[in-house]
Amino acid sequence: MLPVLAFEGLTKSYGETVALRDVSFDVPGGQIFGLLGPNGAGKSTLIRILMDIIRPDAGAVRVFGEPRRRAHLDRLGYLPEERGLYKKLKVGEVMTYFGALKGLSRAEARRRALAWLERLELGHTVNWKIERLSKGMGQKVQIASVLMTDPELCVLDEPTTGLDPINVRLVLDLLGERRARGLSTILSTHHMNEVEAICDRVALIDRGRLMVYGAVDEVRRRYSLPEVRVGARGSLPVVPQVASAERETNGTWKLLLADGVAADAALAALIGAGAAIERFEPVLAPIEDIFLRVVREGQA
Ligand code: ADP
Repeated sequence: MLPVLAFEGLTKSYGETVALRDVSFDVPGGQIFGLLGPNGAGKSTLIRILMDIIRPDAGAVRVFGEPRRRAHLDRLGYLPEERGLYKKLKVGEVMTYFGALKGLSRAEARRRALAWLERLELGHTVNWKIERLSKGMGQKVQIASVLMTDPELCVLDEPTTGLDPINVRLVLDLLGERRARGLSTILSTHHMNEVEAICDRVALIDRGRLMVYGAVDEVRRRYSLPEVRVGARGSLPVVPQVASAERETNGTWKLLLADGVAADAALAALIGAGAAIERFEPVLAPIEDIFLRVVREGQA
């Protein structure tokens, strides 16, 4: 996949505070990309540079394979972290206005607004004033206002924060549908389970530096110990390829492999020693553990 977005050597300071230090990475097209990092890491600064709200001190952004231009904004969607809608306007009017801003005719914007409200189980609120919506409802209206124009690249800053699990699932499903249609999404989130559930690729930023970058499975493998989870009938034989074994509560075993032993060699040794294996899989480090390790230790 060609990158839909490339950050090239971005550096930005606010006075004494260095918010980004020489940050470079690509976002491939047609994926859901997780942008991770602790508070104050520099994520919003990066997003604001992409959206042309602020200028970097050095570096460049390429969008859709071209140096970033204002005209690209029509093809970008953005849900900022600060939420806010015009309180006295009606839901349908606000959404129609956002659609028209992105170049839809008013009739088409209205049609899409109604369809998206239905999809988000908010069809009955179309003539409500914004102020009547609960916080979560308002958030869904704002998400729908961004997604309804089908932007080729969409940046969502913590879209699920404050939503209940049913609505979190609904929003993640919408992002999955975007991916199925070849559209690209950048998801800034503090919910690591969402990253494991839906992201193809991640970048972890800390103190203005890119610390971790890669496909989610590949990153998880990179930070994992040489461990495998094994389900077996009966007991497990002792073999030199396994350094230690720990029985887990559900009856499986977690095995730490001996130095330099590949998983398939350990499996062959166990079977050779008479084990009746029913399940055998690598134990991948959770993204949350990787996040904590990298941020606490300050090194990737
Ligand atoms: P994140 O979005 O990851 O929480 P930010 O990009 O908002 O991080 O902030 C990165 C750093 O830059 C922080 O130290 C923050 O205090 C600082 N910062 C952000 N915006 C401004 C600003 N307008 N003026 C001064 N410092 C800022």
